[in-house]
Amino acid sequence: MKVGIIGSGITGAVLGSLLPNAIVYERATHVGGRMTTRFLKDFERFDIGATVFKDKIHYIEKGKESEFDFLKFLETQAPDLKIRSHKTYPNSFHSTYCMQGLAEKLLTKNKVELLHFAESITKSPDQKQWTLTFAGGKIELFDKIILTAPIPQIISLLKNSGHMTHWDDLIRFRGEYRSCLVLTGVWRNLPPEIIQKIKSLKNQTFLFKDEEAEYFSIESEKYRQSEADDSLIITIQFSSAFSSKNLERWCDADQKPMYYIINSNQYFFNRVFHILDIPELISKKPDHMDTHKWRYSQADFALFKDNDINLDHPKFSEYLALCKKHNLWMTGDWIWGSRIIRCALGATIIAREIIKD
Ligand SMILES: Cc1cc2nc3c(=O)[nH]c(=O)nc-3n(C[C@H](O)[C@H](O)[C@H](O)COP(=O)(O)OP(=O)(O)OC[C@H]3O[C@@H](n4cnc5c(N)ncnc54)[C@H](O)[C@@H]3O)c2cc1C
Repeated sequence: MKVGIIGSGITGAVLGSLLPNAIVYERATHVGGRMTTRFLKDFERFDIGATVFKDKIHYIEKGKESEFDFLKFLETQAPDLKIRSHKTYPNSFHSTYCMQGLAEKLLTKNKVELLHFAESITKSPDQKQWTLTFAGGKIELFDKIILTAPIPQIISLLKNSGHMTHWDDLIRFRGEYRSCLVLTGVWRNLPPEIIQKIKSLKNQTFLFKDEEAEYFSIESEKYRQSEADDSLIITIQFSSAFSSKNLERWCDADQKPMYYIINSNQYFFNRVFHILDIPELISKKPDHMDTHKWRYSQADFALFKDNDINLDHPKFSEYLALCKKHNLWMTGDWIWGSRIIRCALGATIIAREIIKD
């Protein structure tokens, strides 16, 4: 049975760890998806997507409540992974190495093909296997395919498959996503008293109370490797209203900052320094600035978004029946809701169904 997984975010990574013979295809240069980490010189690193994850979630199946313990799952499926509780939210966790490390460690048994952009999947009525075509023309045949990309990307993969009509009702109106802009500043060679002040802060993440920036995280405190490390790394995530308004003037296709943020970054960083009460850094230009835009950051109309995860939901049974009938599986935050733990639980349930099938 040849199984192909499209996407190596947390969904593709959890699925890969449970289906070690499956081949994982990823369009990017690295695994992780919305759990991506940027690495600079020496030990400098910061997460530009998810920064933490929850350890436990409850769900209902056959009328009974069950618990998914993600830390236990990681202990068995990725035993090398070192996890630490977050300083501000003790019930949230991150890898001591980086968030992307979760996907890297979960996928150690799979064949992972990076820089493989899946362009289309097709199956004519007389064919048993799915034909997967990549940008550049490479073709592979699979008995089962699992799509883990956001819905707009799934629709573009399926549009010439002849199968879109089966899925249309289920997926089309789940195709609305929020976007999220991200800005990171790195300040190096800071005096020891400033580093000390940052280290002694009780919190590592803060919420903004306005409509532009939403949240910032002192990433250098998550990943500080040694006493001698004298840099500060701050990552700001922007609200969905602000992000959709500024999506096209934030960074280019290579994620290089564009004019808008080149001119306004200091304003946002200064507000962070006000909140942190570090006036010494106000107007100090970062030594390095990084921008990122997530066009599909969070699914807006997930099946299990507002209600608990209830596997007895009739829409969920309908969805599973469709996946089984066509040997085409799709999963992600548009089903389970937008959180690492929700997508991970979803992937374990889909893997179980695929193994049973
Ligand atoms: C800025 C931001 C902050 C967040 N913060 C948190 C947080 O702190 N805690 C939390 O729990 N959740 C957080 N989330 C949500 C969480 O990151 C996502 O819900 C989760 O990572 C989604 O994982 P996924 O594997 O389903 O999808 P993705 O991570 O999007 O994975 C899909 C993968 O498919 C690949 N792909 C797409 N199309 C193709 C194609 N045609 N061919 C090949 N590959 C393809 C993509 O490159 C990607 O790697 C955040 C999200 C964002 C954007």
